[in-house]
Amino acid sequence: MSIQVLKPKFHVDECLEAVRECLEIGWTGMGFKTVQFEQAWKEYTGHKYAYYLNSNTVGLHLAMKILKMNGGWADGDEVITTPITFVSTNHAIMYENLHPVFADLDEYLCLDPEDVEKKITDKTRAVVFVGYGGRVGQLDKIIEICKKHNLRLILDAAHMSGTKVNGVCPGIWDGVDVTVYSFQAVKNLATGDSGMICWTNEENDKVTRQLAWLGINKDTYTRSNKGTYAWKYDVDYVGYKYNGNAIMAAIALVQLPYLDEENARRRQIVDMYNEGFKNNKNIKAVPAPHHDECSYHIYELIVPDREALLGELAKNDIYGGVHYRDNTEYSMYLYANGTCPKAHEVSQHLITLPLHMWLTDEDVQKIIDVVNGFTA
Ligand SMILES: *Cc1c(COP(=O)(O)O)cnc(C)c1O
Repeated sequence: MSIQVLKPKFHVDECLEAVRECLEIGWTGMGFKTVQFEQAWKEYTGHKYAYYLNSNTVGLHLAMKILKMNGGWADGDEVITTPITFVSTNHAIMYENLHPVFADLDEYLCLDPEDVEKKITDKTRAVVFVGYGGRVGQLDKIIEICKKHNLRLILDAAHMSGTKVNGVCPGIWDGVDVTVYSFQAVKNLATGDSGMICWTNEENDKVTRQLAWLGINKDTYTRSNKGTYAWKYDVDYVGYKYNGNAIMAAIALVQLPYLDEENARRRQIVDMYNEGFKNNKNIKAVPAPHHDECSYHIYELIVPDREALLGELAKNDIYGGVHYRDNTEYSMYLYANGTCPKAHEVSQHLITLPLHMWLTDEDVQKIIDVVNGFTA
């Protein structure tokens, strides 16, 4: 059996039962399970507001849009962001005609507070922080900087489902304006595609609900519960079709109660890897602050020759990955190439090792042996 880099574990029978419930009731769209999942997510995370979306990408877009609207930002205003992320993070800035300014990274591959502060100009309006691999990095320092310079802070928590610090989800820390999670197919809490946007105030949550539903100011579920006048809604914005649906929410509701124990297993695997590599001077694992509560969406090594190691792993039927290429190498973001030397350097040497619920301890040992055999 080959070993994949990422592989979700679905609790299949329970998921099918939950989906069956939607199909039998005849409610597969927005409402019903989506409302239940929003409630469950609020209870699990401590967020006051949560709106279920069809992806994290659209959530980041709405976050930018609403902050831009509220703040009266102009086209071309700047948002400080990371070069080592999935492109969604940076595209969300572009969707709103804002300008991504890239800041360099720290040892956790999260934004480096010092460089963030250096990149602030009089056009800077916000910072997007990616909790890389579930790591909280130096988010506390970034919060201080944002407060000091009156910048909004968006937390791209796509990797952070289940990450806590002293039992608290960092998304609810004072100073984070909005947190966006992903429940995409290979994320820690996997569905097919979906996400959650969590604001700190009711007004933004309300506007999000309308914008994500074509600008309509009542959703179908509320209307059909009220019965009459279901057709008599208003449209306040040119909104989008960004809402999540009950089928995905049904799966999420099944998966959520397993999240903590699955993340604990991820940490066990990370411990095995770290132990296995600690005497190998040629490679270095990317550390995480608050290791005991990190969701560890991915396990990263910094290696001398990534291509060669990926090839060697593949020969052994083990498939590693790369998260991520320096975004300033993409045509779109080439204007910023050279602005983040540390990120650029490390991105040439990053390799993602398999980390998921299907790995046995023997698999992990095999991976360690192959990596050490090739690099030590
Ligand atoms: C997966 C991912 C996204 C996008 O999530 P979707 O739910 O697929 O839209 C955004 N940011 C990061 C860092 C991601 O890994």
